[in-house]
Parts: sequence; C-alpha cells; structure tokens
Amino acid sequence: MGAPIKTWLTLLLTICGALAMAHDPAARATYLGNEGVLVIRGDTKVLFDAFYADSYGQYALVPDAMFKAMMAGDPPYDGIDAVFVSHVHGDHFTAKPAIRYLRRHPKVRLYGSRQTFDAIAASIPSDDPILRRVVVADIRPHDAAKQFHVGDIDIEVVAIPHAGGRSRADIQNLSWRVTLDDDTTVIHFGDAGTNKPDFDRHGEHFKAKRADAAFPPYWFFGNEEGEAIMRNYMDAGRIIGIHVPAAAIGNGDVRRQRAGGDLFTDPGESRELQTPPSTPGSEPASEVIDSAVNAPEGQL
Ligand SMILES: [Zn+2]
Ligand SMILES: [Zn+2]
Repeated sequence: MGAPIKTWLTLLLTICGALAMAHDPAARATYLGNEGVLVIRGDTKVLFDAFYADSYGQYALVPDAMFKAMMAGDPPYDGIDAVFVSHVHGDHFTAKPAIRYLRRHPKVRLYGSRQTFDAIAASIPSDDPILRRVVVADIRPHDAAKQFHVGDIDIEVVAIPHAGGRSRADIQNLSWRVTLDDDTTVIHFGDAGTNKPDFDRHGEHFKAKRADAAFPPYWFFGNEEGEAIMRNYMDAGRIIGIHVPAAAIGNGDVRRQRAGGDLFTDPGESRELQTPPSTPGSEPASEVIDSAVNAPEGQL
C-alpha cells in the first residue's frame, strides 16, 4: 500500500511542479534609468533605451555598476536578444555606447528609427558589419504599424510624435510593442506627447493586443489628456511611468502616491509581470491625487 501511495504522491508533485513551471510568470521588468528598461521572459531578454550618456542635469543615468554589467553581458544582462531605441535624444540614445555594445555582443540586433541608424552610421565606416544588425523602422506618425520578427520575439512599432509639439516635430519617436516567447507583451512609448489624436489614429493597433506592461513617460500621469490616453489605449496588466527625474530616487513611494499610479524611480527596481498589480482595483491609475507631476520642460 505504502509504495503505490508514495508513487502517486511523487507523480502528483511532479505534475504540480510542471504546472507551477508552466504558470511561473518568469517575466520581469527592471528599471535601468530614465526610460531604460530590461524585460526578461525566461531566456528571452530585451532592452529599451538602455544606451545613453546625457542626464541633461536632471534625469537618471544607468548607474556605473549596472552599465558595466550590461556591457560585459553579466547576469541578468546575459543573452540579450534585441535592443530597442525610441528616439535620438541624449537621455535615450548615444551612438558610442550602443556601438560598443553591438561590437561586444555580435548576436544582438538594435531596432531604431532612421535617425538612430544615421547616428550610428555617422560614427563608423559605411561597410562596418554592425550596421547590418541595426534594423530600421523608418516610419512617420501617419504610417501604419510595422512588424518584425526575430527568434522568439514579435515586434510591432508605430511613431508617436515627441512631447513638445512643433518644436520637436523633427524627432522620430517610436513606440515599440514587443512580445517575448508568445507570452509576455510590453509596450514602450519613448517621449510621446499627450496629444490624443496621435493615439486615436493608431487606435486599432493599440487595442489589438493586451500588454502585460505599458511604459508611458511620467507626464501622462496627472494630465487630463494623458490619463484619457492611458484609459483608452494602454490596456495593460501594469502601467509603469518612466522618465521620472532623478530627484525622485529614494522617494518613489511619495512620487507614486502623487502620480496616482506606478512609476519607476530607482534604477534597479523591478516588477514581476503577468500578475495582478498589488494595488487594489478600487484605486485606478487614472485617479489624480494632485497635480504635483509637472508637464515636461526642456530637453526630454
Ligand atoms: Zn526626447
Ligand atoms: Zn527624454
């Protein structure tokens, strides 16, 4: 009698273990600084806006130790599959470290705008082989979404005009939606402005796929139009604001409370994806507590 029960128990535990593995979220987003995010789902890993050199005196740079680990490909930065760049501003992208990274990691592809490609191409010979690993989405705000597929990653991208209106109209700002392993979807908005028509025209694109996490810039919080865009077009398990000025480091809880939603403030902090957010449903992210989150100023 004892042996069969033990066998059944072992089998049951094995099945439970397998189910637990199958349901193990194993998906996580880690904040690097400014709009830099590392997203991991199992062995599939991507970086957003991770290589940049300018803080413009107010935004968080990737801390030295993290930057070195990323460059070296030390865990958790080992086996990165793709790097996505929203736009060419020094607090999101600098060609030099990106080139260094691509040289050290010969399997990684970098996805960016025509302007991103040009910034890289301006720094190296035209026959440099790393240019073949720079994938260009040369799209404008009115263009339809563009798709790419690499390994276990599905990629869709649209252009959303940069915050700041006409003064920034020449900047190609891309919103990358990336699905890892057919399982975990995240969407990054770069420095998108809170102009609803810019999202309305891509309404079908945004509604076509639910994301596990959406990363809008922090100025969407506490801004009426930004909140409306988040409600309408950011159907996501979590909405996490990024680009929060470095002054918020160490003061994240206060900033999140003021914003009435989640924000990344401290490089290295992370969120598990595919689990319900820890805040109860009675407190929607759209609830604005006060207007302490200011509209963007200066170079973003
Ligand atoms: Zn910008
Ligand atoms: Zn910026």
